[in-house]
Amino acid sequence: MDGYDYLIVGAGFAGAVLAERLASQLGKTCLVVDRRNHVAGNAYDYHNDAGILVHKYGPHYFRTNSDDVIDYLSQFTKWHPVHYRILSWTHGDYWPFPINLNTFEKLTGKSASSAEMVKTLERWRHDIPSPKNSKEVVLSQIGTRLYEMFFENYTRKHWKRDPSELDPSVCGRIPIRTNRDDRYLSDKFQAMPKEGYTAMFDKMLAHPNITVALNTDYQTIRKQITHKRLIYTGMIDEYFDFVYGDLPYRSLSFVPETHDLEFYQPVVQVNYPNDHDYTRIVEIKHVTGQQHSQTTIVKEYPQDFKRGREAYYPIPAPDTRERYHRYRQLADSEPNTIFLGRLATYRYYNMDQVVATALNAFNTITQNQ
Ligand SMILES: Cc1cc2nc3c(=O)[nH]c(=O)nc-3n(C[C@H](O)[C@H](O)[C@H](O)COP(=O)(O)OP(=O)(O)OC[C@H]3O[C@@H](n4cnc5c(N)ncnc54)[C@H](O)[C@@H]3O)c2cc1C
Repeated sequence: MDGYDYLIVGAGFAGAVLAERLASQLGKTCLVVDRRNHVAGNAYDYHNDAGILVHKYGPHYFRTNSDDVIDYLSQFTKWHPVHYRILSWTHGDYWPFPINLNTFEKLTGKSASSAEMVKTLERWRHDIPSPKNSKEVVLSQIGTRLYEMFFENYTRKHWKRDPSELDPSVCGRIPIRTNRDDRYLSDKFQAMPKEGYTAMFDKMLAHPNITVALNTDYQTIRKQITHKRLIYTGMIDEYFDFVYGDLPYRSLSFVPETHDLEFYQPVVQVNYPNDHDYTRIVEIKHVTGQQHSQTTIVKEYPQDFKRGREAYYPIPAPDTRERYHRYRQLADSEPNTIFLGRLATYRYYNMDQVVATALNAFNTITQNQ
């Protein structure tokens, strides 16, 4: 395992993009280790026993506004264009979500124009000029009634924190629309890798200068291995042996069911803000484009995180950020290590943002050569 130019911990987007760039553009040799038995990190997908393409770690909806990210990834995949549509189940019915003019009409029971919706929201919204948390950000946009229907309990269930204890970005990232645009996301490019994420990663990592070692935990090998530079995309607190205590995360449990139906539910994702212990049911077949007589759905149950479980979501809040900054200071004093990606920078990043940061990190490496 010794003698590589770069040791890269993690074969998710952050690690794979850098390995690919370093190998193909600079001729560097890279050893990529991952403690899981597969590449692609949380974006990993595979065909289950029924032959249905599923996302192992929750649905991954690719979207971006960045031409650089599209151009880069398009070297390794063709795309299946898609509009992600979701619904929210509450008060015994399906509701269009994110909130838009159709949701508003359903709630008020009569047809309305965008201007009428804007006017009504003006009356409903709370006057909070600079929202400081997720509760305030939603109340300042749509008021109490819609907040309670769609946001309050969903957020509590998912994060086990009241929205008032989370950064504005958590709920603020969900659009509120006064037109009939019912897409979940607003980005200009919305598509899934045509053959799936894992196939895309296999192509990225196929360069002869890249060696991938799966089932290999950096914590176990770190004392035995030498390398010139390290790129680390695992948990930053684990890297520093938890000297400042554990950073908090939310974890999830995924419970799949396969049904003898072409489709189980009307759209790819149904949220359950106020019913059941699970937060959502995802039927990824709606967006992979796969034709199959059966379908697999996945119920998603939020879980507390403890060591040994998967750390899915860094918790965006003032108290967690403070603890992360102590680790960040330690990281800044390690000149030969680059900390990158969702876990190493403790940031709630989407896939395209991670690709963009990895491409930026590569540019910095190139400039400093
Ligand atoms: C449930 C869920 C749904 C999501 N949905 C979307 C979505 O719809 N759209 C979107 O854009 N983004 C989504 N994301 C975010 C997306 O997963 C991340 O942006 C992306 O995976 C981050 O890539 P990464 O390389 O930073 O981390 P990861 O994908 O987590 O990869 C890190 C890798 O490092 C490995 N590793 C960690 N520690 C060690 C160690 N000590 N030794 C060896 N290997 C190690 C891990 O096993 C892992 O494979 C979602 C995330 C989750 C959890």
